[in-house]
Amino acid sequence: MSRFFCFSARSCNTAARAASYIAGMKKKPIIVVLGTGGTIAGHGASAAHVAAYTCSVLAIDEIMAAMPHAASRADLRMEQLLQIGSENFRNEHLLMIGKRVSAALEDVEVDGVVLTQGTDTIEETAYFLHLTIKSEKPVVVVGSMRPPSAMSSDAALNLYAAVCAAAHPSSRGKGVLVVANDEIHTARDVSKASSFKLEAFHSPYGPLGYIVEGLPRYYRTVARDHTLSAEWSVDQIESLPRVDIIHAYGELDESVVEAIASQARGIVYAGTGNGSIARRIAAVLAQAAQRGVQVARASRTGSGVVIRNGAQPDDERGWLVVDDQSPYKARVLLMLALLGGIGDRAALQACFYRY
Ligand code: ASP
Repeated sequence: MSRFFCFSARSCNTAARAASYIAGMKKKPIIVVLGTGGTIAGHGASAAHVAAYTCSVLAIDEIMAAMPHAASRADLRMEQLLQIGSENFRNEHLLMIGKRVSAALEDVEVDGVVLTQGTDTIEETAYFLHLTIKSEKPVVVVGSMRPPSAMSSDAALNLYAAVCAAAHPSSRGKGVLVVANDEIHTARDVSKASSFKLEAFHSPYGPLGYIVEGLPRYYRTVARDHTLSAEWSVDQIESLPRVDIIHAYGELDESVVEAIASQARGIVYAGTGNGSIARRIAAVLAQAAQRGVQVARASRTGSGVVIRNGAQPDDERGWLVVDDQSPYKARVLLMLALLGGIGDRAALQACFYRY
């Protein structure tokens, strides 16, 4: 009797393959590797160019061909989806990537997906997939801080580690993962916290685990809903509503806030400290909320929770607050929460505590 519990013919099939792979009896796991560009697909004028180089020039099969170790761990199926820096990613790109990941996972032969992309917005893509992919199979998003051409590039090791994580049965059911610098992060928490260092990725509660000698070691699981237990499926989404982020600073002009509030369906306000909003801006955002714009208070500090009805009367003004989500994660979540035109603020507020 297999030690894997079979939920369906499909998961049974995959579990059986994983078990036989472990026992060394059968073929390697099949991993789809989707390329979208970024530094991991970049090239510099010389090996000394660790921080100045051209992004998004190497095709995914060229990158993988230069990295035979990854192919020793899985049968790889490469596909070039995009060839752009992730700073260019718009909602349409998230949807296109999500639909392709979902379709790849639908194939009963496929055990997992690795998505290569630029590191700049990896935290947004990964969180979007984490909330909209309907599969237990591992999805690992990976990038690098130095191009493959640079001295001490992290590209080869990160990509190898990503394939190892995606190919391993212990990564199933953990939601979407971001692998970098020997660490495995949950898409919910991870953010890019350095513009150039190799140890650029940070999760406020620490990584879920490490990749050690090509094997994942997990120490924590994800407490919040994701993938199968989340309410969205990327296959059902054709477009996302406009949600903007406004960052607070001393001279932020009301007219800027008004202009955004007249266009957006939702606003994430990255306030100072505990999501504080200056009085003159608060008046504009209270009016926007009255007109039906969903305003969520977040913090520009980079960590911590925002307290509802603490320093700001959220009920009175018709605002939402994030739990601990960064403004960037909150934007992704609010776009999804607004699908179907939800106008119920209590239901929207509940999303920030559930995901
Ligand atoms: N600008 C690049 C990108 O996000 C940086 C990187 O890949 O690290 O595509």
